[in-house]
Amino acid sequence: MRDLSHTSLVTGAAGFLGSHLCDRLLARGDNVIGFDNLLTGSMAKISHLMGHQRFAFIEGDLIEGLPDVDAAEIYNLACAASPLRYQADPVHTFRTSVIGMYNVLERARRTGARVFQASTSEVYGDPEIHPQPETYNGNVNPVGPRACYDEGKRGAETLCFDYKRVHGVDVRVARIFNTYGPRMGGDDGRVVSNLIAQALQGGSLTIYGDGSQTRSFCYVDDLIDGFMGLMELPAAPAGPVNLGSTGEFTIMELAHIVSAMAGAGLAFEMQQLPQDDPQQRKPDISLAHALFGFAPKIELREGLARTIDHFRTAN
Ligand code: UDP
Repeated sequence: MRDLSHTSLVTGAAGFLGSHLCDRLLARGDNVIGFDNLLTGSMAKISHLMGHQRFAFIEGDLIEGLPDVDAAEIYNLACAASPLRYQADPVHTFRTSVIGMYNVLERARRTGARVFQASTSEVYGDPEIHPQPETYNGNVNPVGPRACYDEGKRGAETLCFDYKRVHGVDVRVARIFNTYGPRMGGDDGRVVSNLIAQALQGGSLTIYGDGSQTRSFCYVDDLIDGFMGLMELPAAPAGPVNLGSTGEFTIMELAHIVSAMAGAGLAFEMQQLPQDDPQQRKPDISLAHALFGFAPKIELREGLARTIDHFRTAN
C-alpha cells in the first residue's frame, strides 16, 4: 500500500516528459514537487498544475543541488534532451548529467529515496546491432558534438550502478528512445516537432541527409506507462531497461506521413546530415515486457494526430 503522504520529486518537471510525468504522479495521488532551471523547460508546460493542491514548483539548477525536501521517490529528468538544445551549451549538458546525477544519488543514499534515471538510447551511439538490447555496449564517439549528452548519460548510468553496488541505492534506469506527443517544444529541433511545425506553417519539410536513417517513435503516454511500471516493480532490475516503441520508420516515411496529415503536397528540403547522426535505431523491449508487461499501444498516425492537434492550438 502506498503511503498517503508519498512525495515524489521530479527534476526537469517543466520539460516535455517531466510535465507528463507530473500529471501521472498527481493522478496516482502523490504529492509532487517539480524542480527545473527553465533552461529548456517552460512554465507553459506545467501552467495547468499551478494551484493544484498537491503540486509545488521550485526553480533551480540541479548542478547546484536538489531542493531541501523530503521525497520517497526522485525522478531525474533534468537535462536538455534534443540535439539542438543539448549541443547549445555542451559543458552545462555534461555537468547536468554527471554532477546532477551525483547530487540525486547522494540525496538518495542519505534518505533511502527510490531513484528513477532518465537515460537514453543515445548511450548506444550509432549502433552496429539492430534492434538494440540492453546488453549492447554501444558505439559512441566520445569527442564528437553529441558526446556531451551521450557520454554524460553514460557517466550518469555508471554512477547509478556504483551507488547501487556500493551504497545499496534503489535505482531504476530507463533508456528512453525517441518519444513524441503534445507539449514537445515547437522549436527544439527534433524531427517530429520540426516537421509538424513546418507543415502547419505550409513551409517545406527539412530532411537531414537522404532521409533513409530510421527512428522508432513512441507516444508519450505509452512511455510514461513504462516509467510507472519500472518504478512500481517491487525490486530494482539488475541493469538499465529500454523503453520505446518498436515501430521503425525512415525519416522520409515520417515526413510523408506528417505531410499527408498536416499539410498535403508540401515540398521537402534536403539538408546536410549532422555529424554522428545514428543511421538506425529501434529498441529491443523484451526486457521491459517481461518485467512489467510494457507494450506501447498508440500507433504512429494516432499519436501524430493528437500531437498535430496540440501544435495547432498551443504553438
Ligand atoms: N531530422 C531531420 N529533419 C529535422 C530534424 C531531424 O531529418 O528537421 C533527422 C535527424 O538528422 C535524425 C532524426 O531526424 O536522423 C531524428 O532526429 P531528432 O533530432 O529528432 O533526434 P535524435 O534521434 O537524432 O536524437
